[in-house]
Amino acid sequence: MPSTAAASAREILTGLHSVMAKRTNAQAKLNKVVALIGEAMESEVCSIYLLRDGVLELFATRGLNQEAVHVTRLALGEGLVGTIADKVAILNLAEAAAHPDFAYRPETGEELFHSFAGVPIVRRERAIGVLCVQHGEPRGYADIEIEALQTVAMVLSELLAGAKLVDAGKGLAAQRDTGTIRLNGQKLVAGMARGAAVFHQPRVTIEHSIAEDTEAERARVYSAFRRMRAQIDTMTRDAEFGTPGELQEVLATYKMFAYDEGWSRRINEAIDSGLTAEAAIERVQQRTRMRMREIDDPLLAERMHDLDDLANRLQRIVSGQIGTAAQGGLKRDTILVARNLGPAELLEYDRRRLKGVVLEEGSLTAHVIIVARAMGVPVLGRVKDVRLCIGEGDPMLLDVDEGVLFVRPGNSIEAGFEAKLALGQKRRAALAGMRDLPPVTKDGARITVMVNAGLRDDVEALAATGADGIGLFRTEFQFLVSATLPRRESQQRLYKSVLDAAGGKPVIFRTVDIGGDKALPYLVEEQREENPAMGWRALRLSLDRSALMKSQARALIEAAAGRTLRVMFPMVSEPWEYDEARALFEGQRAWLVEHRHAAPARIEYGAMLEVPALAESLDMLLPRLDFLSIGTNDLTQFLFAADRAHPRLAERYDWLSPAILRFLSRVVIACDAAGIPVGVCGEMGGRTLEAMALIGIGIERLSITPAAVAPLKAMIRSLDRTAIRGEMARLLETPPADMRASLLAWAEGEKVVLG
Ligand code: PEP
Ligand code: MG
Repeated sequence: MPSTAAASAREILTGLHSVMAKRTNAQAKLNKVVALIGEAMESEVCSIYLLRDGVLELFATRGLNQEAVHVTRLALGEGLVGTIADKVAILNLAEAAAHPDFAYRPETGEELFHSFAGVPIVRRERAIGVLCVQHGEPRGYADIEIEALQTVAMVLSELLAGAKLVDAGKGLAAQRDTGTIRLNGQKLVAGMARGAAVFHQPRVTIEHSIAEDTEAERARVYSAFRRMRAQIDTMTRDAEFGTPGELQEVLATYKMFAYDEGWSRRINEAIDSGLTAEAAIERVQQRTRMRMREIDDPLLAERMHDLDDLANRLQRIVSGQIGTAAQGGLKRDTILVARNLGPAELLEYDRRRLKGVVLEEGSLTAHVIIVARAMGVPVLGRVKDVRLCIGEGDPMLLDVDEGVLFVRPGNSIEAGFEAKLALGQKRRAALAGMRDLPPVTKDGARITVMVNAGLRDDVEALAATGADGIGLFRTEFQFLVSATLPRRESQQRLYKSVLDAAGGKPVIFRTVDIGGDKALPYLVEEQREENPAMGWRALRLSLDRSALMKSQARALIEAAAGRTLRVMFPMVSEPWEYDEARALFEGQRAWLVEHRHAAPARIEYGAMLEVPALAESLDMLLPRLDFLSIGTNDLTQFLFAADRAHPRLAERYDWLSPAILRFLSRVVIACDAAGIPVGVCGEMGGRTLEAMALIGIGIERLSITPAAVAPLKAMIRSLDRTAIRGEMARLLETPPADMRASLLAWAEGEKVVLG
């Protein structure tokens, strides 16, 4: 049975429906609305204040002096009404005048009334007005009455935004558009971008708030719940493969909420009050968001975000607006907004239109960030509550270098951004001049600077940057962008085209590193992993799935026919794994030769050092290697036991810590003694100060993101290798309290160009 609140809200909604349908002017409509609400709630007063030019103006009232309409104005935060709008909070007071924020306005005649209840009229998470009622006698309002007010406020917000209340609508639109906000975040992929906000999981626009047929709306919600629960169950079942621990946690919470009776009941009650399914979900969600604002506990606040995500999903199912923004296609220059993204999801977007990404989570070495870097898309991460502060389509300026995002920027911010962009272009042009200059230190040491790649188009970076080759070709990217396992022929085509485009410069192909945070939907295993980064991934998976590896080996060997094939294996933990992988390749080569197929002139084999244990077996492994490549992204996550994709740990440990540098230094000494070339291909090498330290411990081969080549060359050309080697030896002997600060001070003293 519908509750009384539902009944009274319903009565009001039915009335609202007919008021709004009438062909009268906006003021007349608002006057009708306050009369309607006042009557239904038996209140002496009902008033609507709307935000105009940043001030709350009394637009309509029943019960207060009519002369006060359009005269009484309150700033945000001023008086009870201003407080409600400012805090986007509800006030329920038996004695309004006793409240510390009460501001008496004689023109209204409100001294006659004791009790007061007001709710914000919310749009895009901000108050655009206030709806309040007052009674003569002192009384607290029951929850159900507040509920009814909120429901009405929500419908009012939809109506005010529409064209029907033209003058109010105009004022509100202008207000919305001038409110610039500045959000801070963590620099994940450097760069600047301009574009319109697009939600990766688009928010649903509610077209009809008031239901024509309540039972039909109820049926829609039931069926959406069923579908959503089935989806969550499947996601949970599939999550065992290559997903970070955090996602598992989120899924567990999703599941808890998806089956939460309280949530579905509240939505049902909102439907009882006369709302459509979409509006009912939104209504309940607004209430949750209000509570979110008051919660101090970060853990609980995070759970509320999960519920918000889920409500969004339910909303999309119910309205049939399913799929990510990638499926809909980007229509203009876009800055994508998401809680987090997987690498494959990012790759689905049109690279020409995707100008930037803003994440609520994210961390520097997560694969999605590596993919974004490869795509040349700037990413700002860890932007708190970003999805609550902006609206779909909002114009935005992203300046990752400064760690800021401007939403709905004003003219002066625009101008500053333009100027900086122009400056950046100048600098880039200056750096482009670096293309033909070799990375040689001041004392004549030639450092090898290669690029990391993963997509066919990345190869163009070779010519653009003048890099020495591709030091890491992440072959799994092709697997990530495919809906099914790529066939051998298509793998071969890609590898051949990469070799052709590289035009004789060396390319080091890494065999697939699937698993960890690079999950493949079509390669799902039965078992769910607790720690996928340390789980069945990379070479471990390839050796167990030898058919997959054989087909990749064949594709690589055939693609490199007549040329030198360079191949390396990821996540080698013990020498036998390398031996097996190499033997598998050799087996394929032998088979091809036996069957008179063209084979590479030579195959060079390398291992990636990403698992600390391998460093202790180097004496056994090095004699069988052609080269060693240190993957610092994984290596450092294992050295510090700190998940590389964990947003909370993103800035906790420094690559320039004595532990990492000493570890790497010992590896370099071992490689030098064995005469085996060693390089670094993790993100660490792409930062000028870190690269300087690496050169200081004897690393002379770096493979980095293309955007870092020019700054790195500039750094190398201003560096004296002998001097940095001496300095690093000294610093590692007796490490300073702050290694980064010491290196920075040294670089400044030596005039090393750090960019
Ligand atoms: C690394 O771990 O440092 C590396 C280069 O490989 P990936 O980032 O692809 O795991
Ligand atoms: Mg790795």
